[in-house]
Amino acid sequence: MKKAALIGNPNSGKTTLFNRLTGSRQHTGNWAGVTVEKKEGVFTLAGEEAALVDLPGIYSLSPDTLEERVALEYLWQERPDVILDILDATNLERNLYLTLQLMELGIPVVAAVNMADELKSQGRILTEAVLEQQLGIPVVLISAKTGEGVERLTERMARALSAGAPGDRVRYDPATQTALERTASTLPEQPGRRFLAAKLLAGEEISFLTGAAAGGEVTRRQIRQAYQTQTGQPDCYLALADARYRWIEKAVRKALSRPAAGDAPSPSDRIDRVVTSRVLAIPLFLALMAGMFALTFGPVGSSLKGMMEALFFRLGEWAARLLAGLNTPAWAVDLIEEGILGGIGGVLAFLPQIGMLFFFLSLLEDSGYMARAAFLMDRLFRRFGLSGKSFIPMLMGFGCTTPGVMAARTAGSRAEQRLTVMLVPFLSCGARLPIYLLMAGIFLPRHAGAVLLGLYGLGMAVAVLSGLFLKNTLFRSTRAGYLLELPPYRWPSVGFALLSAWDRCKGFLYKAATVIFAMNTVIWVLQHLTPALAPAAAEEESLFCLIGSALAPLFEPLGFGFWQAAAALLAGLIAKEGVAATMLVLFGGQAAIAAAFTPLSALSFLVFCALYTPCVAAVATIRKEMGSTALAAFSLCYQTLTAYGMAFLVYQGGRLLGF
Ligand code: GDP
Ligand code: MG
Repeated sequence: MKKAALIGNPNSGKTTLFNRLTGSRQHTGNWAGVTVEKKEGVFTLAGEEAALVDLPGIYSLSPDTLEERVALEYLWQERPDVILDILDATNLERNLYLTLQLMELGIPVVAAVNMADELKSQGRILTEAVLEQQLGIPVVLISAKTGEGVERLTERMARALSAGAPGDRVRYDPATQTALERTASTLPEQPGRRFLAAKLLAGEEISFLTGAAAGGEVTRRQIRQAYQTQTGQPDCYLALADARYRWIEKAVRKALSRPAAGDAPSPSDRIDRVVTSRVLAIPLFLALMAGMFALTFGPVGSSLKGMMEALFFRLGEWAARLLAGLNTPAWAVDLIEEGILGGIGGVLAFLPQIGMLFFFLSLLEDSGYMARAAFLMDRLFRRFGLSGKSFIPMLMGFGCTTPGVMAARTAGSRAEQRLTVMLVPFLSCGARLPIYLLMAGIFLPRHAGAVLLGLYGLGMAVAVLSGLFLKNTLFRSTRAGYLLELPPYRWPSVGFALLSAWDRCKGFLYKAATVIFAMNTVIWVLQHLTPALAPAAAEEESLFCLIGSALAPLFEPLGFGFWQAAAALLAGLIAKEGVAATMLVLFGGQAAIAAAFTPLSALSFLVFCALYTPCVAAVATIRKEMGSTALAAFSLCYQTLTAYGMAFLVYQGGRLLGF
């Protein structure tokens, strides 16, 4: 099977094109750093199935950052049959910098210049043939969003495949050109020699690609010295980058017409003047978040939830009647009705709200607003000694801790990455939502939205404060200073937002059908067997009660020292959705929960749930990303203790105040 690698700058539309070509549903986002892992899909190329690999978004092929290294190593070692280089037409100069490097690898490259629609609305024209002539590779103007030009693109890719790698037509200024060629001649003839030459001339560390150097160092050092003196630049890296940009500027001037409106501020700039202004930015951010929560958890969301609940109630009744008619033993009916349908139904009831929340988040992401939010947070975070770079993984952590922890790789230094990994789990993942919704619905039905906002806010506050504390103690880092790139505002695509929400829901459904299903069955069994493995006559004799009871005293000071709560928290270690399901199964319904908790102890329970350790899958990822078991263990203890401490403060503080 032929292999194509999709590569381009962050936010150039890679994922959108990937989805369009493969028809698969990937998560897209209007900010840098959404695609961390490479993803593979299948598409049709030259009438055959071919693999398409979506690589992380990068600006150059230097081995400086983890993503660039991942991409470079992949291209160098796997040598895909064709590179599909996607460029943002509205930012052509910067995007071509990567293209020039890709072309040196000795692999066929096809340039897909994306955002044709936006270019058109700016009144600018790209002449494909001129750029093609300059670069010496196929250039196709496309819009990944509308699909324009995509068919032509695959045709050109098929042709490029059979034509093989192009000779290098790009000629830089004489000094650079000579230095490059002379450096190349010190290297053995091999595919990608030009690329190696450029890297060696720039003085970049590439021994991880070539293994031991093949001699010729002395000559190369002389070439570099001569080059540096000739160009008068501080170093060869800058000299080469400068030469490339000068070449690009000339090429773009020939191929792309200037913006018609001259220097008038773009619509995006005009929007930003309001949205990120000093006075309005934060209130607007809070209002948007509050609006989103109010819609999701207010009347609209809760009536949808009511419908789901009614559905599952009917389903339970119907199943019980059906099974009774089939002479199924009473215990099996009970297992299915209470243990499985009751527990899973209780969790699935939240599906509409989870879907809505992610739909809105995806709209905000897609429109470009989330990048502004990250930018705003950058300003805010810096006061606490953090940078906006950590904010993106954190935002993702609101969906699911695992990808958030993985996205922390985009943070600059190792210390910053580890610190981010420490903090992401404090941000409430989507799986914690059911428990918030359940408890808030029982104890504060009128203020469910506010409780939710408060719990999310608490997570953020704890993360920020922990960051401040850890940054100055355990994870000292000197690196600061990072500029977030602000993509232009774009109309979000409702279709993509729906897909993204559906993606989350699918994950949630899948979990409900597997982990939660298995967990509920196990819990039900533990609940109905005694330690001697005989049927338990009363719940108090059951195994689960014993386990829960052993843990319960620990939670006494937090106000929920009963075995059901302890057991539910334990279940939450396997999957956070399990907390709500287990509570429902163990208590046997919302009424019993209402009787067991006071509003204060319910709040304390929620605070504990919001902050305590993530599920085992996330913990495993934390260990992997930290590259240290000790640090992962520290992260686990730190979270548990923080959760315990905060819940303790809420409960005991509340009692002192007479609640
Ligand atoms: P990636 O970071 O390279 O994977 O980029 P994405 O695929 O996530 O796209 C970034 C943003 O650009 C998203 O908001 C897309 O909806 C938007 N986008 C992608 N392709 C086009 C296009 O052809 N035209 C317009 N107007 N927007 C696009
Ligand atoms: Mg992407």
